[in-house]
Amino acid sequence: DLDIAERTARTLGAKIAPVTVHAVDGVSLSIRRGEVLGLVGESGCGKSTLGRMVAGLTTPSEGKIRYNGQDVAGLKGAAARDAALKIQMIFQDPMSSLNPRMRVRDIVGEAPRVHGIVSRDRVPSYVEDILQQVGLDPSTGKRYPHQFSGGQRARVGIARALAVRPDFLVCDESVAALDVSIQAQVLNLFVKLREEFELTYLFVSHDLGVVEHISDRIAVMYLGRLVELGEAEDLIARPNHPYTQALVSEIPTFETGKKTYRAITGGLPSPMNPPKGCHFHPRCPHAHDRCRVEIPTLREVAPGRLSACHLNDRAA
Ligand code: SF4
Ligand code: MG
Repeated sequence: DLDIAERTARTLGAKIAPVTVHAVDGVSLSIRRGEVLGLVGESGCGKSTLGRMVAGLTTPSEGKIRYNGQDVAGLKGAAARDAALKIQMIFQDPMSSLNPRMRVRDIVGEAPRVHGIVSRDRVPSYVEDILQQVGLDPSTGKRYPHQFSGGQRARVGIARALAVRPDFLVCDESVAALDVSIQAQVLNLFVKLREEFELTYLFVSHDLGVVEHISDRIAVMYLGRLVELGEAEDLIARPNHPYTQALVSEIPTFETGKKTYRAITGGLPSPMNPPKGCHFHPRCPHAHDRCRVEIPTLREVAPGRLSACHLNDRAA
């Protein structure tokens, strides 16, 4: 909650007001072991907050995050530490999350050393192996973060997360800062690592093209609510929710063969004061009276597909 309140206040140049913003409101979502779940939505929709909650960096004011069936907030001692290591977050800007005064081998080797993941004498060779696995020459371990390109720094950030042997990665805009061609390389690295280490990903991005590239299933968020969820290919081919339909009306580009998607017309309403009823109604071409008063519930509209739109009742 705070995350988004702070950002909104900062954007407005205001002091942080003691206000509760439901950045994430009634979102219920399961991620299957071994899958890549893409979480897409515009900036301010609450997807980062949701990612931070899953990674244990933000505590939900209500509700629970369960990991392997256990409420993460209720874990104590070694179990809490274990869950914290098993779920790792990979941030957008590796430059701001990598200590500029540390050599990359120390950045990557720090957590395994501190947590005793390998014995001290084995840390150097362990780090070399991980650098190799993320596509970096092990000899670059002696360099500092500023001596790497953006794409290489992204790999360092991934190496640091992998070094604690996680099984779940929350990737928040992890390729957003990179050039399109480098984005594809880093996404392919994520795909490779998922297979090698049997990882599960929650992949948060505002960019549907990125999410489409990597995800098995896609969840779409709008102003703190989940509006649609389904198998990635099917969701993009046959979006049910008007918001998803707007997101997928694509403009193909020739750059990389990757599709890019246009932005939706009309600004995103303030999360501090979201529209009543269906949050999307001011921007929805199909909005009707009911939409302005009644919140549509997320329900199954086809096998494996959930959507939250009153139009589905009409169709039924
Ligand atoms: Fe549009 Fe109404 Fe559906 Fe919301 S519930 S997406 S406003 S048609
Ligand atoms: Mg974000």
